[in-house]
Amino acid sequence: MTIEGMCSPFRDLRDRVSDRWLPCLLDPVRRSSLGLKLALLSVHVVFVGAVFLLDGDLIEKMLTEPWYPALYLVLFLAALIQYFVTAGSSPGYLTEAWRAFLEANARIKESSASSKPPASLKNENFAVSVYSDQPEKAAHGNASSSWSKMVMLLHPPGTSVRSLTCTYCMLEQPPRSKHCHDCDKCVLQFDHHCVWLGTCIGQNNHCRFWWYICMETALCLWTKVFYITYLQSSISRTWWKDVISIILLCGLSIILIFLLLLLFFHSYLILTNQTTYELVRRRRIPYLRGVPDKVYPFSKGICQNLYKFCCARGGEYYMEQMPTQLELGELARPYTCLDLLTCRCC
Ligand SMILES: [Zn+2]
Ligand SMILES: [Zn+2]
Repeated sequence: MTIEGMCSPFRDLRDRVSDRWLPCLLDPVRRSSLGLKLALLSVHVVFVGAVFLLDGDLIEKMLTEPWYPALYLVLFLAALIQYFVTAGSSPGYLTEAWRAFLEANARIKESSASSKPPASLKNENFAVSVYSDQPEKAAHGNASSSWSKMVMLLHPPGTSVRSLTCTYCMLEQPPRSKHCHDCDKCVLQFDHHCVWLGTCIGQNNHCRFWWYICMETALCLWTKVFYITYLQSSISRTWWKDVISIILLCGLSIILIFLLLLLFFHSYLILTNQTTYELVRRRRIPYLRGVPDKVYPFSKGICQNLYKFCCARGGEYYMEQMPTQLELGELARPYTCLDLLTCRCC
């Protein structure tokens, strides 16, 4: 009997169980996403559970100083909740923005037809930065041509509509959007597709993603402190407990280095209003061609970038216009003493 033949009854049983109770498991993509979520949960349980099992003092401490492990438990649960919230959130798909644009567009026409005060696209869940009157300008004409007009206004002059149309979504992409082949959708301000979260990181969930990395880093650091304290303690323990602790501590250190690098990298991207995709593929992205090195075309200064990142309203779609050559030249201008005094970078 071949291995294939031996496995087929189990596969049939799995398919029957999935079909009856868990239909989501029939889809291979959702199955692998669920597998990753379970793997992440297991990693958390192993690293955190092991330290409590190995270190009996920690349980004692829990009884004498309950606030200390309680705080740790809060961080542990918060990191897991943040993981599931980020994984379940929309990164800001272009189709959603397009629908919001059409709805807002229809409301503008409706209000102008009934001679009510004209509604503004800015007041809806749709906003275009830099030129606030552009959506209204583009709103004249039929809905799909309005969208095309608006997108064209955001790109540098001379860009052809054809080169901007996503052949999968059949929609014109504003600057900073990209089609994700894993999600099979275009994502606004596409950063990357996160395998661990099973979703894209884009305009609407980048902030959640940063907080998730931040919480995981803090949790990892705190767990590492527990392991080090346990290994440094003078209590008598068996050799295998030491071996397990050292192996887990090494694994934890590698994860911590990775998390810290990720946290610093994303903090840098946020402060300069860039995405991972723009940084890595800078020379291959059409709208970034010709932009001088070390110029961040979408940056409005550290403070404004941070404000926009932290205080952007959920469910609102932002589309940024590519700066003109004149504005890019101004951004590329070397810093003078006056610029430093007037905090030009902020
Ligand atoms: Zn697309
Ligand atoms: Zn994706």
